This record gives sequence, C-alpha cells and structure tokens, in this order.
Amino acid sequence: MSFSQSTTPAKTHFDFILTGCGAAGLMLAYRMSQDSFFDKKSILLIDSVKRSADDKTWCFWEEGNGEWDHLLTKTWQNIHFESKEFKKVSDIKPYKYKMIRSSDFYNFVWNSLEKKDNFTFIQHSVDSIVSKKDHVEVVANNNQYVGKIAFNSAFLDDEYKNQTKYPVLQQHFLGWFIETEEDCFDDDVATFMDFNIEQKSSTRFIYVLPTSKKTALVEYTLFSENLIEKEAYERGIVDYLNKRGIKKYKISEVEKGSIPMTCFPFWKKNQHNVLHIGTVGGWTKPSTGFTFKTTSIETKRLVSFVKTRLDMRAFRKKTRFWFYDLILLDVLSKENNKGASYFSKLFKRNSIQTILCFLDEKSSLLTDFRIILAMPFFKFTKTLFRRIL
Ligand SMILES: Cc1cc2nc3c(=O)[nH]c(=O)nc-3n(C[C@H](O)[C@H](O)[C@H](O)COP(=O)(O)OP(=O)(O)OC[C@H]3O[C@@H](n4cnc5c(N)ncnc54)[C@H](O)[C@@H]3O)c2cc1C
Repeated sequence: MSFSQSTTPAKTHFDFILTGCGAAGLMLAYRMSQDSFFDKKSILLIDSVKRSADDKTWCFWEEGNGEWDHLLTKTWQNIHFESKEFKKVSDIKPYKYKMIRSSDFYNFVWNSLEKKDNFTFIQHSVDSIVSKKDHVEVVANNNQYVGKIAFNSAFLDDEYKNQTKYPVLQQHFLGWFIETEEDCFDDDVATFMDFNIEQKSSTRFIYVLPTSKKTALVEYTLFSENLIEKEAYERGIVDYLNKRGIKKYKISEVEKGSIPMTCFPFWKKNQHNVLHIGTVGGWTKPSTGFTFKTTSIETKRLVSFVKTRLDMRAFRKKTRFWFYDLILLDVLSKENNKGASYFSKLFKRNSIQTILCFLDEKSSLLTDFRIILAMPFFKFTKTLFRRIL
C-alpha cells in the first residue's frame, strides 16, 4: 500500500486519526512520518481542505539555525517598535526573526507523507469525535472511522467564545503584499509593532515584513473583541503607506486572519485517547497569537510522549506564563484603548532579548518580575488579586 488519498478509504480502523491538517496536524504527521516507531502504525488524516496554497505567512524568532530553515523565505536581524511615545530599532542577536510561507510548509510535508505507505488522507468535514473506553469514533461526511488515539486541530464548537470566565480577544488583521516602484523598505528590519497610528479606542498597530527593498507584507492589525469592515483595514494600510510617502505600488497578494487570544482552558477537553492540538489545544500564546514555534516544540514532545504514555490528558505542562497572559488579557479586554501605552512601556523598559525570552516562556522569575514592574503596577496588581481571590 502507498500513501492514499480518497473520498472513502477502504479501511475504517486506524491506530491514529489526525483531524485537521493545517500547521499543527501536518507538523505532527510529518514528525510521525520521520520516526520509525510509527512505520507499522496506520495513520488517517482528515481535513475538509487539502491545503497547499499561501493562506498564511508564519513568522517566529529563533536562536541560530533551526529545523525549518530550508523553508524560509526571509530572515531579519533587526526589529522595529514604534509608538507615539517611543521608537526603537533593535538588533535581536542571538535571535533571528524568520518567515515561512505556508505553501512551502504544506508542500514539503505532503511530499514527505506521500513517500510513506502507512498514511491515508481523506478530504472530509469532521462532524464529531467521540471518546470510548478503548477507541475513538470520528464521524466525517457521514462515515465513521475508528482510531486508538485521535489528535484534533479542527474547531468543532464555539465553547471558548460562549463563556465569560476568560476574556476572548481576536488578533485580527488584513495585509497586502505590495511591490513598489522605488526602493522603500529596509529589508533587514521587520516592523513588529508600529502603534503610531490612530488607535480609535482599540489596540491597533501596523506590522511590516519587507522581503526586499521594493516588496513587503504590510498588515493592519488589531487586538480587540470584534472584527472590523474590510475597508477599515484597507484604509489603515493606505494611510500608513501615504504617511511614508509610498504612493506607487501594486498589490500582489492579500492575507487576512483572525487568531483567538484567550486563556480559555482548551486542555480540559482532552480525554484519555483524544488530544486537542494547535490553536484548539491552547498552543496559541494568548497574549501574542504566536503559535508556529510552540507547535514545532510541542509536536516534537508529543511524538516522544505517545510512545510511552497512554493517557493523553497527561501531555499538558502547566506554566506560570498562562497566568501572566491571563492578567494581560484581563487588562487589555477592559482597557482596549490602552494597548499602545502598555506595549510601549514594555518595549521601552526592557531589551528586546529579554522580551523575546519572556514570550518564549524561558525567563527567570526575577526577569518576569522586572517585566511585570514595567507595566502599570497598580492596575496589574489589582487585576491579579481579582483573579486570585
Ligand atoms: C493569516 C494567519 C497568519 C498567521 N501568522 C502567524 C505567525 O506569523 N506566527 C505564528 O506563530 N502564528 C501565526 N498564526 C497563528 C497560527 O500559527 C496559525 O493559525 C496556525 O495555522 C494554527 O495551526 P492549527 O493547526 O492550530 O490551525 P490551522 O492551521 O487553521 O488548521 C486547522 C485545520 O482544521 C481544518 N478544519 C477545521 N474544521 C474542520 C472540520 N470540521 N473538518 C475537517 N477539517 C476541519 C481546517 O481546514 C484546517 O486545515 C497565523 C494565523 C493566521 C490565520
């Protein structure tokens, strides 16, 4: 048997079923395909779409060389932060900020999986995943598939939106890949956050990823509860470009998205034989929306975990950073107009390396304390006590 792809596979029983084949599902499948432990295991992948296009541009920072370097479109050594109060371009050494276009990632993974004979892909929409004592039942397009373990990265309900205990913001954005006539960009500097735009009572900034002096992805981004009209994002980009004297350009591609920012405990939905992964598994950093690097780390940990542990609920690692994110989101959801001021204080009072290490959840308690002190102390302490008591 070779890698098969069909509308209805002959087989209905598998060792593993992966529902959702985006970043997390495909990265996990790739790691399983590279580990001989899984060579004798049958693995079913289900997604309503077989992704291969550029629907996302993933960026992350990393020290030195990394395993996805062969897929990178661009790296940057410097990061620019700007607000009305403060402006800084920092060399992020020893880190580099790296960009992968999703088509390169998807195609690389599908090519690897197609060489294996124990993977099957079906293009179906998943309706339900039901955990039974010694197996999992997955229903997709009215067919039932049975697995020993299921890894799910597809949103199958809106429970996180329909609760009030944990605030839910969205990181929502629309971006244009533009080509200018003149040299307009410094292609060694990625603009992480430029808050020097009208805030209109919500947290808004511009994100710029120049891929050359004449080409860049320019995104108008908000951290807020509700999405805005398409024209409002577009107007934000045009205003930003006008302000920089960039008037002659072509739009070659458009990218838009909305990433949930919440400390909702997604892991509580895990069962002994069902593990939620990716954004649905809580792998998105609530305070930033970054997910790609965590997915890389967590999928690696998961393939080792699966070999020795039977209960998927033991996979989750608790960290104090979840609580910090919760406090920040509590504050930001109540005072959404003050995001620019809070992020300015963070970037003004800490080196970029300290911030990136903190966001990587690798900082010491002392560093955490320094970062928290850079925030409006009274406001954050009050919010913290409200959460604890
Ligand atoms: C435009 C965009 C840009 C981003 N940029 C960055 C970035 O720069 N850096 C970063 O770290 N993170 C970024 N993120 C956040 C995060 O990395 C991505 O959202 C990432 O794709 C999350 O991976 P995932 O596997 O959890 O979800 P997805 O990649 O969305 O995969 C979920 C899959 O489930 C499938 N699915 C859903 N419902 C069903 C169903 N009922 N049946 C079958 N299949 C279903 C979908 O078709 C999809 O393929 C970005 C997100 C977006 C939207």
